[in-house]
Amino acid sequence: MSKDVLDELKKEFSWFTETLCPSGFEEDFSRRLKELCRYYADKMKETSYGDLIFTHEGEGKKKVLLTAHIDIPGAIVTSIDDNGFIRFTYIGGLDARALPNQRVSLYPSNKKIFGVVGIKSFHLVSEDETSRVTPMDELFVDVGASSREEVEKLGIKIGTPMTFCPAINFLQNNIVSGVGFDNRACCTVLYRLLKKVREQRRTEDIFFAFTSREELGMVGSELVANIVQPDYAFILDIAPTGDTPDLIDSRVPVKLGGGPTFLIKQGEDIIHIPLYRRVLEIAARHHIPTQSCSMEWEMTETHKIQGIKHGVPTLDICLPIRYAHSAVESVSLEDMLQIEKLLLALIEEI
Ligand SMILES: [Zn+2]
Repeated sequence: MSKDVLDELKKEFSWFTETLCPSGFEEDFSRRLKELCRYYADKMKETSYGDLIFTHEGEGKKKVLLTAHIDIPGAIVTSIDDNGFIRFTYIGGLDARALPNQRVSLYPSNKKIFGVVGIKSFHLVSEDETSRVTPMDELFVDVGASSREEVEKLGIKIGTPMTFCPAINFLQNNIVSGVGFDNRACCTVLYRLLKKVREQRRTEDIFFAFTSREELGMVGSELVANIVQPDYAFILDIAPTGDTPDLIDSRVPVKLGGGPTFLIKQGEDIIHIPLYRRVLEIAARHHIPTQSCSMEWEMTETHKIQGIKHGVPTLDICLPIRYAHSAVESVSLEDMLQIEKLLLALIEEI
C-alpha cells in the first residue's frame, strides 16, 4: 500500500468526519456532500430527506446500487435548567455507557457550540456510584453558560441536535480512532469509488447513494431503492469486531485488519446466499481477505432494499470496527482499501 494512497485516504476520511449529524438532521452535511461529489457524477438526484444519489451512466446492461448511510447516533436537547445545564435524549443507538466525561457539539442553526457531559468530581463520588453506569436521563451537558437565557442566546433550544465532538486520531498500523466512523468511514469509501469509476470509464450503470436516517428505521435506503430499482445492491456499513481483551470469549470472529466482513445471519434474517457465494469467489480471485460472522441483533439497510421490485439480491459489505457508537470508534485504513478493491471488482464481475 503506497504512502500516497494512504495520505490521500487520510485526507478524505478527515473531511468526512469533520461535519457530523445525528439521524434526522442530515441537511447541512448533505449540502456539503452534494458540492463535493456532483462533479464526479453524470446525474444527481436528492430526496426530501437529504438522501443523495449520484449516477454513473454506463451502457444500460445492469444497474448496481451502492449505499452508505451518512447519519450517526446522537441526541436532542429536551430541557435547559435555570442554571444553564442541558438535558437530552438519544437519537438512534446512542450508548449511555459511552457518554459521561465526553466532549460534545451542539448544532443550533448554522453554528457549532462545544459542551461537555459532566461527571461528579472524583472526590465526591460515593462507593456504590463507582461501579454504576449513569442512566442517560441523569446526565447533563455543560456549555459553560450560567443561565437558561444565556443558553438560549446561543440558539440552543428544545430539539437542538447534538453529537460527540468530531475527532480523528491516527494510531499505529494504519488504525484510526474517532467519532462517527459508523458510517462515515464507509461514506469515504463510497466517495472514492465514485471518483474511481469515473476515472476508469466503467460501462455499468452505477448508483452511489448516501442515505439518511439509517438509525431511525432505515428510511433513506428504502426511498433510494425505490427510485433506482437496481438489479443488485451492496450496502457499505460496519461490523463490530470481537478482537479486544474484553471480548475474547464472545464468539465474534471478526478482526480489525481482517478484511471485508459479511453478516451471514442478522437477527432472524439470512443474507442472499447465491450472491454471497459469488462475492466470496470474486474476492478469492482478487486475493482479497474476507471474514464472515453471525450477529443476533444487527439490522442493516439490506432489510429495506432486498424486498423491492421482484426482489433485489443485496449484500452488506461491512467494515470491521472496534468500540462502535463510542467516541473512540476504531477502523483500519487497510480494511477500507480492501472494501474499495472488492467493490471495483464486483461492479464488473457480478
Ligand atoms: Zn451503520
